[in-house]
Amino acid sequence: MRHGRWWWLWLAAGALATGFYYVLPADSLARNLSYNVVGLVSGLLILAAVRLHRPARPAMWYWFAGGQLVWVVGDVIYEYYQYVLHQEPYPSPADAFYLSAYPMLLVGLVLLVRGGGRRDKAALVDAATVAVGLGLVFWIFVIEPVAANASVSVQERIISVAYPAADAMLLALLARLYFGAAERTAGTRLLLTAVVLLLIGDVGFSIVSIYSDAGGTILDAAFLMSYVCWAAAALHPSMRSAGTVIAVRANPRIGAPRVVLLVTSSLLGPALLLVPAIGGNVLDRALIAVGAIILFLLVLMRIAGFVGQVQWQAGKLEDLAMHDDLTRLANRRRFEQVLGAELTRGRPYVALLDLDGFKRVNDQLGPSVGDQLLIAVADRLTAIVGSDTLVARMGGDEFAVLITDTGAGAARDLVRRITTALHEPLRSCGHELLVSAGIGLTDSAGDADAMEMLRRADLAMYAAKDGGEPFRWYEPELDRQAGEEAQLGAELRTALDTGQFRLVYQPIVELPHGRIVAVETLVRWDHPERGLVGPTEFIPAAERNGLIVEMGAWILREACRQAARWSAELGDDAPERISVNASARQLAHRGFSAMVADVLRDSGLPATRLTIEVTETAVFEGGQAIEALHDLRALGVRIALDDFGTGHSSLGLLQTVPVDVLKVDKSFVDTITMAGRHAVIATALIQVANGLGLTAVAEGVETAEQAAELERLGYRLAQGFHFGRPVAEPDFRGARRAHPVAGPSTAGAV
Ligand code: C2E
Ligand code: MG
Ligand code: MG
Repeated sequence: MRHGRWWWLWLAAGALATGFYYVLPADSLARNLSYNVVGLVSGLLILAAVRLHRPARPAMWYWFAGGQLVWVVGDVIYEYYQYVLHQEPYPSPADAFYLSAYPMLLVGLVLLVRGGGRRDKAALVDAATVAVGLGLVFWIFVIEPVAANASVSVQERIISVAYPAADAMLLALLARLYFGAAERTAGTRLLLTAVVLLLIGDVGFSIVSIYSDAGGTILDAAFLMSYVCWAAAALHPSMRSAGTVIAVRANPRIGAPRVVLLVTSSLLGPALLLVPAIGGNVLDRALIAVGAIILFLLVLMRIAGFVGQVQWQAGKLEDLAMHDDLTRLANRRRFEQVLGAELTRGRPYVALLDLDGFKRVNDQLGPSVGDQLLIAVADRLTAIVGSDTLVARMGGDEFAVLITDTGAGAARDLVRRITTALHEPLRSCGHELLVSAGIGLTDSAGDADAMEMLRRADLAMYAAKDGGEPFRWYEPELDRQAGEEAQLGAELRTALDTGQFRLVYQPIVELPHGRIVAVETLVRWDHPERGLVGPTEFIPAAERNGLIVEMGAWILREACRQAARWSAELGDDAPERISVNASARQLAHRGFSAMVADVLRDSGLPATRLTIEVTETAVFEGGQAIEALHDLRALGVRIALDDFGTGHSSLGLLQTVPVDVLKVDKSFVDTITMAGRHAVIATALIQVANGLGLTAVAEGVETAEQAAELERLGYRLAQGFHFGRPVAEPDFRGARRAHPVAGPSTAGAV
């Protein structure tokens, strides 16, 4: 049998024994002996339990066992008087044993309470409240009458008072145990029950002997079960850790029973005065008065404790609500609050900072590197601005600095120092990371409130990022631009919904004869008032507000449909391929490649006949964009790097990004026929393309001389007004017969 079950068995056996006790004839020796046996076995079982469970703090159990056994000795002595000497003396030597049992039990309980948790002031005050309240009642109804009984000797009176006095102490400890923070295990519950039963027996006995002549045999059940519970507690496995701090109740909530107990206890003193027979003598009155005052003070202490705790928690909550968990900087709420206060007494500046490429760090190196990076940035910012200046994390990779008590020049200098400091690599989880940031700076000019200042700083920050500048001051012009942007955004939405966009196609030809091998799709906006609007005027805005995703899907669908139609109508005369431009935002959008696959399937255009043109900048950030390109490649779609040579132009990009075509930017074609070293880049790029096995396309060819020079340099494909402007329906048949290298450029609308 497992050790864990003994307590249970003993509890059942003890209950049976208690029942058996009442079956035996009253006042018989047998009955008394059965009583002694229960006590003896209980005491011995406690000792056995110490061997069995090896509790962390065994001392208390020895005291408990000692108390029980001393009690049994007292009983046996008394029975000796009763049954052998046929006397019933009071007091007798038995009382000496009985009374010395109490201190032993009390010591054991003190040991249990002391080890059972942190110093819990509230529990102490509560215990004191119960002990004083009940103790007062106890005094008035039990101790006083016994002490005042003039009919017996002083010696008898002292001993009679000693019992209830010991009970009062037991009660105080019981209350302390009950309110303690120690986790209430089944073992402690059994122990509490044992003490309660002992108290019931004792108090019952005192009351019965004061107020009636009847022997209280029924109370023997309480004493017996107290023995049994005490030993059962010792046997319970949970008592191994009794009196150690490991078991602390997670959240000692103040439940309804506790409140009722406390309220009743604290009202007991004053309520005693309502009993007519009480308060007659001076001592009683004084006692009740003092008791009531103590209770009142205890309640006050408790309330003070509560208030303190609430204040502490409020402070803690405020701290949580005002700080960013990760960086321990102030958060947006706190920043707004301080900024608001600062605005009432001066003219603060706000610098809003947003990291560049943070998303890439998170995506590629993992969120924990990202987190460390944010912490490193936070530390660096605090180090630069000093501890007097408020730095906040506004969310994500956005930080704010509140600059006070200084002029515009000093504010700008501080921001400069921040940008310089951020140029130094940051350490995060063993990675050396280079970060840059866009900073928007604003003062409180006009009547800007906190929200308005943050809005302005935000606007300036985005302007800085758009312009590739490290920082930028807010100016009202930005508002105007933002207003226009919003207006343009709304118009673009309508344009897309009402079908105002048109597609034109520009030939990509083979050198030298000018045969059209492909076309590039270019979008136009047929504006109801402004007429045909070029893409440079609205594509950037569509990128910023995200409409480009939907617009781009429409363009691709239209273009693929058109290409399929041409191939059906013109057969061999149709262009072999069609190019469609895709912007960074489109590539970064998950589902881009799936959309392309969808469109290809719907239009029936073979994937090999589609080229997607992307700029270097769009793929430079890596991440999702590169993944999208790989997916497209897997479909069979070709990838062209557009405007090559104007963006980041990292040749390394050509090795990491899947590319088939290099579109050499118009700026290198423009200078090709000029004297000097102007053809150097165009020459280098064709070599790079050839070396890497890529197809090169020269963009923006406007003259026959340029075409001839490109041909001479080794270019096989070209595109430009010289060969054909972007039009809705290029003349594929006519172009076949043309000889554009020598002849005039094809006429047509942009
Ligand atoms: P891009 O992809 O480099 O397109 C070539 C641009 O150069 C076109 O301008 C074209 O009209 C112009 N061009 C071609 N040959 C010559 C020439 O000989 N001389 C001169 N001066 N220009 C020439 P466009 O149509 O204004 O488009 C400008 C840019 O807008 C495009 O540059 C492309 O980046 C973007 N774009 C155009 N259509 C779309 C589209 O459907 N989607 C996306 N995302 N972007 C588009
Ligand atoms: Mg293009
Ligand atoms: Mg281009």
